[in-house]
Amino acid sequence: TISMLVVDNDGNISGACTTSGAAWKMHGRVGDSPIIGAGLFLDNEVGAAAATGLGEAVIRTAGSAMVVELMRQGKSPLEACKEIVERIYDKHKNHRDLEYLQVGFIALNKNGEYAGYSLRSGFNYAVYDEEYGNRMEDAAFKM
Ligand code: ASP
Repeated sequence: TISMLVVDNDGNISGACTTSGAAWKMHGRVGDSPIIGAGLFLDNEVGAAAATGLGEAVIRTAGSAMVVELMRQGKSPLEACKEIVERIYDKHKNHRDLEYLQVGFIALNKNGEYAGYSLRSGFNYAVYDEEYGNRMEDAAFKM
C-alpha cells in the first residue's frame, strides 16, 4: 500500500491511498485501501490517517476513521495509531493466523505532527517538510 497524507501551510489536509492488494488474494477481493474510513480517512478540522497490512482487519475496525476520531478527542498521532493497532491485536490475539497479521497506520494532524505505528517491526515511511527535507522514519511497533 502507498498512502500520502499532506498538510499545507494553511493547515489544509489532503490524502491518497493505493494498493496492489494483499498477496495471494481471492479474485474480486476488495481490501481496505479503496474504502474511505478503512484504508484512508481525513477530516480537515483534525487530521488524516492511512493504513497498511491486513485489509480485512482494518475494515472491521474502521481503522483510519478511528485514528482520526481519537486525534479529535485529543490524542497525538502516535497515541491514536497505537490504540487502534492494539485494538486490532486484541481482536486477533487468540486466532491461529496471528503470526501472519501485520497492520500499521500513519497519521498526521493539523499542526503537522505525525507518527507511524505498526503491530510488527519493519514498517517505515517517508516524510518531507520544509525544515528538514526528505527522510525515512521507522514506525514504532508493538512486537
Ligand atoms: N492493505 C492492503 C490490502 O489489504 C494490503 C497492503 O497493505 O499491502 O489490500
